[in-house]
Amino acid sequence: MKVHFLGTAAAEGFPGLFCRCAHCAEARSRGGRDIRTRSSALIDETLKIDLPPDTLLHMLRDGLDLGKVTDLFVTHTHSDHLRAEELEMRLPGYAHGVEHPLRVYGHDGVVRKCREAIGRPGDDRVAIRRIVPFETIDTGEARVTALPANHDPEETCLLFHIEKDGKTLFYGHDTGLLPEETWTWLSARRLDLVILDCTNGNLPFTGGHLNIEAVLGIRNRMRDGGMLEEGARMVATHFSHNIGLLHADLTAIFDPEDIIVAYDGMVLQV
Ligand SMILES: [Zn+2]
Ligand SMILES: [Zn+2]
Ligand SMILES: [Zn+2]
Repeated sequence: MKVHFLGTAAAEGFPGLFCRCAHCAEARSRGGRDIRTRSSALIDETLKIDLPPDTLLHMLRDGLDLGKVTDLFVTHTHSDHLRAEELEMRLPGYAHGVEHPLRVYGHDGVVRKCREAIGRPGDDRVAIRRIVPFETIDTGEARVTALPANHDPEETCLLFHIEKDGKTLFYGHDTGLLPEETWTWLSARRLDLVILDCTNGNLPFTGGHLNIEAVLGIRNRMRDGGMLEEGARMVATHFSHNIGLLHADLTAIFDPEDIIVAYDGMVLQV
């Protein structure tokens, strides 16, 4: 399984779209791994998680063929994860040579937002389907299970457990501390790759996102609970500009913990 990190920032991007803080100014001057766009990941070029507003940039920057994507799993409706209007660009007249439908999966708020954006054009180009927590979708190549997040009390934000080619991945953002029902489900699994929210960096913990301490806590509970395969890897991502940490600061913190700091364009083979 090839996991391609297309974006690794929180909602504002890094540097922030309109932000003039010292931290964003430093990122602008450094460039490279300190430039973070809104979050998404692509698995084996056909399974995508989230459709952020920076998707065209991702396609251009990394030379992606997004016409190959067959399945799009959406975590929640926040604007950094779902720009539903982009789905229109897959309809006839906007996209040529795409014969298969893009199957879009999300909770009811996601379905509604996508319908509002593109109407009901038929399922041959974009097929929108509601999923609920603990439901498993078999895409034909992967088995994807939706798990409850702890992120926005006004919607059923989802995390995803993905099994493909004998490997397993847990896509764990956006979320604060994991709900116990998610822990219960995960406790019967062994994970090869775990991707976690680290929006708050070393700032105090807030409910809807994780910080460094919380990421380490989840890693420890997974390890102690036998949820990690031998050689399992853990990734921290979705960093806010407010944390005041550049990529080098984050790796100085996470390298000793054997946790990978995600950056835009990073590819991991699982
Ligand atoms: Zn987010
Ligand atoms: Zn800033
Ligand atoms: Zn969010």
